[in-house]
This record gives sequence, structure tokens and C-alpha cells, in this order.
Amino acid sequence: MRIIKKNHFTVLNNVLFAVFSAVFLFVGFSCKRVELPRAELIFGTICSINAYEDGTKAVYDELFTRLHSIDALFSTTKPSSEIEKINAAAGVTGVEVSEEVIAVLKVALAFSRITDGAFDPTIGPVVKLWGINTEYERIPEKEELDSALKLVGWKNVKIDGNTVFLPEKGMRLDLGGIVKGYAADALTHILKDRKVACAVIDLGGNVYVWGQKKDKSLWRVGIKNPNDPEGEPKIVLSLPESTVVTSGVYERYFIEDGVRYHHIINPKTGYPENNELTSVSVVCRSSIAADALSTSLFILGKEKGFQLIDRIVKNAVSADSKNSAINSASDDEPPVDFGQKTVQKKDRVSDGMGMWLFNGVSGEEYVLDVLENGLPLLPPMKDLPPLGAIFIDAEGKIFATDGFKGI
Ligand code: AMP
Ligand code: MG
Repeated sequence: MRIIKKNHFTVLNNVLFAVFSAVFLFVGFSCKRVELPRAELIFGTICSINAYEDGTKAVYDELFTRLHSIDALFSTTKPSSEIEKINAAAGVTGVEVSEEVIAVLKVALAFSRITDGAFDPTIGPVVKLWGINTEYERIPEKEELDSALKLVGWKNVKIDGNTVFLPEKGMRLDLGGIVKGYAADALTHILKDRKVACAVIDLGGNVYVWGQKKDKSLWRVGIKNPNDPEGEPKIVLSLPESTVVTSGVYERYFIEDGVRYHHIINPKTGYPENNELTSVSVVCRSSIAADALSTSLFILGKEKGFQLIDRIVKNAVSADSKNSAINSASDDEPPVDFGQKTVQKKDRVSDGMGMWLFNGVSGEEYVLDVLENGLPLLPPMKDLPPLGAIFIDAEGKIFATDGFKGI
């Protein structure tokens, strides 16, 4: 017997409720609002933003326009998106796409490399077969999965300048595991430019608490109980400016014969990862990294996940001096047009392979990058390690990385 879960969209009848309930955010202060917080359906989920006292109509309009423009580039359901144009031309020809799509794809592939393929943006053919959260969701036949898995392989993506080519017909890019993080970072650039003092961005559970609250207290961000996602939060974190991104079995799934089939697919098996974890939350200041990592860590599991985090944290800490060097480098290259933001050389670094990325941290010169040793460089967090993760298992047990236990 199939039980279809409650759809995200049914929550939309009260969007303002969703602003606060979807991720159990407790901001604990009040200030005069220019405009009510806004929420819209984008990326197939509820995206809400509260910019508090600085939340004018113009600010919300700009923020939501940016979200729609990112969705229009990266959507896997809109044939007009750049990602779908790449997919449609698989096995035939390369497709020239925007700088933005190239950058996010390169970040995704960098995470494929550091996770040994646990994160794989070419997972598209398998995601399509399962059809989770669509009207055609079903358990695929083993043979179908085997054929789809033959088309999965992050190493086969060809990028030449701004042209992306998938060499096999049927290959499909799916950046659903990273694009909301990218979008949250992109919004923080606007918040910074518009001098918004503090804001909460929630893109379907991909949260960014931006700036500092008026009373200077820490933000309080809840992590859902995977066994009761609509109930009380399992944990409430007290955090400085940061992003909290969760990958969980309760987000998109169907249940058949008592078995839950969720949307985080192990690229080695083609099946939803089944390692006793029910959610992984990542905390840092780069939402694109947090998003890629939450999906990756879910698949890697606790042990390998903790090892990866440890390596990234050590790298980030030792990279501080490199950052200073990068930022004092001469600024002789022309600026790069990156969507709404023009980026000078001092804001980016390259690993010699053309890899350059940005974080969305206000007033920071720190850049998320993949260094020679292949690890992302994460900016520091106030009074915390640069990266933390919280794993919840099927029994409800919580495992947190150092520095994040009990915060
Ligand atoms: P998230 O909710 O960020 O963990 O991302 C899950 C989404 O990423 C899925 O809905 C798919 O679109 C995509 N996805 C699923 N499995 C993988 C994977 N192994 N690597 C990269 N993306 C994936
Ligand atoms: Mg993710």
C-alpha cells in the first residue's frame, strides 16, 4: 500500500505561518516592520525572507527577483533553463551557459571530488527514474536503475570555457543538492548592498541568519525532529551569523509497503541512502558549501562524514594566512560579471584549474575556494569552528562535531 506524504505545497495556504514554522526559527525580538516578511514557492519549495526593519517592498522585490532568476537558470523541470538545455543536448553537442551556471557546476564537481563521488551532480537520470515528489514517483526496476547508473559520472562532464557538454545521450545534470545554498549566498550579497542590518532567509529548510539582531543576542535556529517534522524542533541552536542547511529523509519521499524512499540517492547503488541517518545539518558561513556538504555527509554517513569535516576545518584554520595574501594581491584583472554582482580579482581566488567561488559573507574578503589539497576554504565563524555538523539517526540520537555540542 502506498501512503503519499503531505506535500510541501499544502502548507502554502498560510505563507506567513510558514515563515516561522517551516524551520522553527525563533528570533526572539521585535522591531518595526516596513513590510511583512515575504514567502513564495520557488525551487519547488517555500522560500521565505524576513528582513525586519529594513524589509521594504523594494528590498523584497529585489531578493525574490534574484531567486526567480536563479531558478530559471537551474531548474530541472523548466525546459527553458540552462541546465535543461545542457541535458537536452547530452550526447549531441555542448551548450554555452552563463558564468553563474559554470561557477555552481564547478563547485558541485569540486564536492564530487572531495567526497569521492558521494555528491554527484550527474545523478539526474536516477533522480528522474524515482520521480520523488512528482506524480510519477515509483520504485524503479533494478534493470532500469542499472541503465540509469551507467549514465552517472561526475568525471565525464566536459567544461570548456562557458560550454558544458554531457557526452552520453540520457545524461542529466541535477544541481538540486546545491542550488538553494548558492541562492542563499546570492541573497546575502543583496542584503549587504542594500544595507539590511539583519535578516532570516529560509529556502525550504536551507536557512541563513544574516547580520546581527538589534539586541545583539544570538540567532536561534531550530533543527527539525526527522520523526516528527511538523512538531517541536529536535534541537535549537544559538548561533552568530551563519547558515544552517539540513538534508533529511522527511523532506521529499514516498512510502511503499512500509518502506520510506527519500530523495537523497547514493550514486553507487541508485537507491535512497539507507544508513540509519535521518538528517544531517551543516553550519558554516557559506550556504553553497553547507548545502553540498549536508547532502554529501548524509550519503557518506557518520564516520566518513566526521573525517571529512575534520579535514575541512583544519584546512580552513590553516588557510587564514593564505587569505591575507590573496587579498593583498594586485587587482589587475578585469571584474567578472556574476549575476547581480561584479566581482574584482581580490574577491576571488583560483586553484589553477579555473576554480573560483564566492561565499556570501558580508564585509568579508574570505572566499570559498578549492585549494591545492582540494578542500573548500570556509570563512571563520564568531566563537565557533568554521564548520560544524549535526547528525540525527533513526533512534533520534544526536551526534555533533566539536564546538557544536550543546550550543
Ligand atoms: P538536499 O536536499 O540538498 O540534500 O538535496 C537533495 C537533492 O539533490 C535531490 O532532490 C536531488 O535533486 C539531488 N541529489 C540526490 N542525490 C544526490 C547526490 N548523491 N549528489 C548530488 N545531488 C543529489
Ligand atoms: Mg544539499
